[in-house]
Amino acid sequence: MNVGIRMGVLVDDTRTMTLEQAMSPRQTWQTITRRSPNFGFTQDAYWFRFQIENQTQQVLTRLIELPIPFIDDVQLSHFAGGQLKKTYTLGDEKPFSMRPIRHPNFVMPLELAPGSNLVFIRMASAGTIEASFRIWNPVTFHEASNNESLMQGGLVGILLIMIVYNLFVYFSTRDVNYLYYIGFVANYLFFHFTLNGYTFAYLWPEAIWWNSFAISTFIAGTALFTCLFANGFLKLRQFSRRAYLTVNVLTVACGVLLVMTFVLPYSLTVRAGAGLVVPLSIVLLGVGYWRWWRGAQFARFYCLAWSAALVGISILNLGKLGWIPANVWTSNADQVGLTMLVTLLSFTLADRINHDRALRLNAQAVALAHERQARAAQQAMINATEAANRELEQRVSERTHDLNTAMDQLTVANDRLQLLSTTDGLTQLSNRAFFDSALLTEHRRASRLKSSLALIMFDIDHFKRINDTYGHLGGDACLRALARLLQPKVHRAGDVLARYGGEEFVILLIDTSATNAATQAETLRAEVEKLKVEFSGGVIQFTASFGVACVTPDQDTSTQALLAAADIALYQAKHDGRNCVRSAVAA
Ligand code: GH3
Ligand code: MG
Ligand code: MG
Repeated sequence: MNVGIRMGVLVDDTRTMTLEQAMSPRQTWQTITRRSPNFGFTQDAYWFRFQIENQTQQVLTRLIELPIPFIDDVQLSHFAGGQLKKTYTLGDEKPFSMRPIRHPNFVMPLELAPGSNLVFIRMASAGTIEASFRIWNPVTFHEASNNESLMQGGLVGILLIMIVYNLFVYFSTRDVNYLYYIGFVANYLFFHFTLNGYTFAYLWPEAIWWNSFAISTFIAGTALFTCLFANGFLKLRQFSRRAYLTVNVLTVACGVLLVMTFVLPYSLTVRAGAGLVVPLSIVLLGVGYWRWWRGAQFARFYCLAWSAALVGISILNLGKLGWIPANVWTSNADQVGLTMLVTLLSFTLADRINHDRALRLNAQAVALAHERQARAAQQAMINATEAANRELEQRVSERTHDLNTAMDQLTVANDRLQLLSTTDGLTQLSNRAFFDSALLTEHRRASRLKSSLALIMFDIDHFKRINDTYGHLGGDACLRALARLLQPKVHRAGDVLARYGGEEFVILLIDTSATNAATQAETLRAEVEKLKVEFSGGVIQFTASFGVACVTPDQDTSTQALLAAADIALYQAKHDGRNCVRSAVAA
């Protein structure tokens, strides 16, 4: 049973009024007409009084519950039949263990005497004052209390699951927005359960100092993480400089407030926190819708989430104001809204991860296509280069082949030329030029080796007559026959037989003494004498005269001297009657 509209209220702005003074007939009590009288933040002490009629003949046990667990000071006095029956002094500034009934809310048992019972309650608090007292039958109280515990337990469960789940998601994604989200949910969780007295009942029943301002701390923490989350999640830095700065200012304000909750009095920080909630909600929701309106699809769940929470809180307040019928849904609409907020925000994060992943995959596909194009271009270039190289190689090898052929031909031609230039056309013997160079070479070698060098020079006798008798062709035939006869006889390596002029020949003999040379000359002379040249049906015979010279060359000798010596010896042979061998006197 709610007692709101049956109560009288008395405001004590001095905070010093005693029970006797309050009960004095001089005081003018006001009547409360609202179902849940809320006096907001106030420094005043408030006195309430109400009457309970026990129409039975027995004493009835009833519970008085004050479901606002953060009132600093609550004093209850129970009168029956003009007698003070019972007093309670409670408040969140006393350890939890001092409560008559261990319950998150203030619950005080009263033994109602038959007839009229009068109750006075004094409340003073640094926070808000709300006098929504309820009188319970103990049995129904415990039933309702169980249901309430079940609901709150469910809410803890949902929020804890969201925290743990998103923590795991954070570990796998390393997206800091998950931490902000967790910070938000955790702070909200503690805010809610501190507001409802559960944390004081179950977590820190002795921590009075901390409990006196914990609500402020959790409001500031919730607001701080909400700002951080909005800033990071909506990517405001890239979106709008003004929005980014505004939310940053709010973030800093929340941070400062969070620190201040430990320093400044609760009455101040809780007002500041409550004052911050309105601009914060407007800015953060406004920025979300702005972002959505400007095309950010991932902002839609964000907007939906915060809208659900605000709708829930609005329904709760409309219900409290009596504008809409109060039932189990409207009185818990804030919890429904906030549960939806927490769940939808989690979806929001997953949605944005999908969105980001889609962007990333798209970028990867584009990069892959570019890479493929680049690789194809590179391959085409390699192919072109290879083709060019092959063509070049082909041409080089063709040119090389041509060049080699030309070189071969040139070598052959050169060899032929060499042969032609060193060979006598008529007799095919070496010519005079070849002989002169061979003589110079061998002369130098002999000079180096200190070996002897012999020279035989011979000339056909009376050749003019042969020409005269048989004609020039007959003479030529004789010259060829002589060459054919003598060529095989001069076979030692380095020895040279050459036609020296007209019908005059020379033989160079290497490492040969004058005697040996003379002997060989004599052999050759005899061979020539025996030679029969068939020509034009007849036979031509002739002789030759031989001159031999020999030298062991040194710096002072010359080839000319050797030639001259042989020539003189040949002249001597002619002079001595021809067909003979003469040797030069050694120099
Ligand atoms: P000698 O015994 O004194 O040497 O008498 P010869 O007749 O041989 O005298 P000479 O050396 O003066 O004459 C050489 C002649 O050889 C003159 C020239 O007409 C002839 N003759 C020179 N070269 C050739 C040639 O290639 N073919 C022919 N058929 N005759 C040549
Ligand atoms: Mg002659
Ligand atoms: Mg001659």
